[in-house]
Amino acid sequence: MSDCLVVGGGIIGLMSARVLAMSGADVVLLEQNACGKQSSWAAGGILSPLYPWHYDDEINALSFESQAIYQQLCADLLGSTGIDPEYQKTGLLMLDEFGSPSAKAWLKKYQINFQKQPPGALFADIATVRNPRLLQALRADISNKKVQIFENIQAENLLIKGKKLLGINTSAGEFLADNIIICAGAWSSKLLDLPEPIFPIKGQMISLKAKPDAVKHIILENGKYIIPRADGQILIGSTMENVGFNSAVDEATKQNLYDFVLRHFPSLKTAKIQHHWSGFRPATKSGKVMIKRDKNYHNLFINTGHFRNGLSLAPASANRVLGLINE
Ligand SMILES: Cc1cc2nc3c(=O)[nH]c(=O)nc-3n(C[C@H](O)[C@H](O)[C@H](O)COP(=O)(O)OP(=O)(O)OC[C@H]3O[C@@H](n4cnc5c(N)ncnc54)[C@H](O)[C@@H]3O)c2cc1C
Repeated sequence: MSDCLVVGGGIIGLMSARVLAMSGADVVLLEQNACGKQSSWAAGGILSPLYPWHYDDEINALSFESQAIYQQLCADLLGSTGIDPEYQKTGLLMLDEFGSPSAKAWLKKYQINFQKQPPGALFADIATVRNPRLLQALRADISNKKVQIFENIQAENLLIKGKKLLGINTSAGEFLADNIIICAGAWSSKLLDLPEPIFPIKGQMISLKAKPDAVKHIILENGKYIIPRADGQILIGSTMENVGFNSAVDEATKQNLYDFVLRHFPSLKTAKIQHHWSGFRPATKSGKVMIKRDKNYHNLFINTGHFRNGLSLAPASANRVLGLINE
């Protein structure tokens, strides 16, 4: 029996478990495979929505709150685990949309500054993390904080007696807890009947290996982006495919992403494609995140629906869940 049972070991589950453990709760985390290997691993690591004016006030609030937390969080994780999530303020050079009426209204509303860098606009404060390392660091850190992590165990359904939610039935038997927090990403609707279904939107990415500093800023154009890592790795993404849980990657997309990076950086034609992968973003039709207490069970919470922005929103989303539990 634990105070809190978190289902899902992606960025949302790991961050939720960390915040709950730091509040003094006794936390168990269940993951059906290995922690940090799904969407959160597949992501680019940009710590901001790409075009923030496409999103509602709630997402913008979660994003700003998280942006204010990340640098110190990464320093703390490096200190406690020795694993460096590589927080870098690379800045983002946006090549389209920044002059649109909705962008102008958003920039005014949130008083955001940018530098003109023709033909684009440089948002110098936007940062990135090396998300696979961030996930490894979070897993190690919560383990140090006495969170019990159970991998290769699938949550199957709610364990209900009478009108009370007692825990979760899993592939390894019953897990009892006072509070259940579902952070199962794109799979959340397989587990629960949610107010709005969560469905997967596949994204493919590729990476190249170049010299450090070959690319200085994140480049964003027409929804596609180029992300530099400190060691010279360059990530290029991504597609938006509504194809269910089909993780296949294809040659046409690989070529398309490669052409995009070469158009901006012709000198990279000698750099070889290292990897090509995909992940499933947890999407909602309304575009809203789902951070809620369940309407039927007072001790059931859901933290999902982060779509393209789960890394950007995770720290503040975890704080919201803690707030809901303590209400
Ligand atoms: C190509 C791509 C690029 C992206 N780039 C960015 C970016 O630059 N910045 C950004 O902020 N966001 C980005 N995203 C979005 C971001 O990756 C997601 O919003 C985020 O990872 C969602 O986190 P999550 O923890 O909800 O999901 P996941 O990381 O998918 O984790 C959910 C976990 O729950 C587990 N699980 C599911 N069902 C069960 C069950 N029944 N029992 C036990 N465990 C279960 C799964 O195995 C999984 O490990 C990108 C996504 C993709 C695909």
